[in-house]
Amino acid sequence: MDIVHVPVLVKEVLEFFKNIEGVFLDCTVGLGGHAEAILSKIPNSVVVGLDVDEEALDLAKKRLERFVLAGRVKLFKSSYVDAVEVLKNLGFDHVDAILMDLGVSSMQLEKAERGFSFNRDGPLDMRMDKRQSLTAYEIVNSWDEEDLSRIIFEYGEEKRYARRIARFIVRNRPIQTTKQLVEVLARAIPNKHSRKRHFATRVFQAIRIAVNFELENLKKFLAQAPELLRPGGRIAIVSFHSLEDRIVKEFFRNEPKLKQLTKRPITPSESEIALNPRARSAKLRVAERV
Ligand code: SAM
Repeated sequence: MDIVHVPVLVKEVLEFFKNIEGVFLDCTVGLGGHAEAILSKIPNSVVVGLDVDEEALDLAKKRLERFVLAGRVKLFKSSYVDAVEVLKNLGFDHVDAILMDLGVSSMQLEKAERGFSFNRDGPLDMRMDKRQSLTAYEIVNSWDEEDLSRIIFEYGEEKRYARRIARFIVRNRPIQTTKQLVEVLARAIPNKHSRKRHFATRVFQAIRIAVNFELENLKKFLAQAPELLRPGGRIAIVSFHSLEDRIVKEFFRNEPKLKQLTKRPITPSESEIALNPRARSAKLRVAERV
């Protein structure tokens, strides 16, 4: 079965991009959902798409084949942190628009062997970039209790039980699989069934953010983004948890080279959430280069 990633807030993103032509940098091209929408709805557009996930790029290549053949899309296995270099090699000093769609793709979640999902039994992996050596297994089985507790508290925003969860993890080592981790969390977390989200959500989020250096990478890219945009160019960022959203919000608010176009973040409609539950926590913020 082909895995389809339904892009989130795609109409809303296009609304902000509709009067832009030229080079679009898709920092997180994933399975090419947003890129496909841009290429089909914005005639004079070229997309440079980056992703660190080789499997995602293969699927994007298939989905975007007609645009690849027409020379309108170029895909690279690269972190968006290195976007400036990739663009320089293509002869671009500036781009007209930037899109970041943070978070995990449906493909990453659905493939048990990637280890991202608490609903599927797989190895503790969670790497978006398989070239890197740090995995979820290493964090779960070798970080000390203090560091585990810190990431669960900070990245998982699990304010109440971070210490207790870290203690349970350390006591139950070795933990080999996502299912075993969920079983440990089930014992560690009191009142787990009264939670709005699955009780493992926060801890899985924390480990994933740590494995992939998600917040550090976002900050590193944002610092380069205003210079990369031509005046009048726009940057749109879809985030999926409050830590990312806070970083984007503060950056857009305090960066003199950018004007915020979204005072409040744009969120998906009820009907989008009904069709695509992954959209539930998405927030879109957009800014323009002055
Ligand atoms: N917009 C895409 C679509 O419509 O198909 C989905 C993007 S998905 C939510 C996020 C993607 O970002 C994943 O494929 C992930 O591998 C990628 N990613 C994560 N960190 C990255 C980084 N530092 N550089 C480039 N891509 C990254």
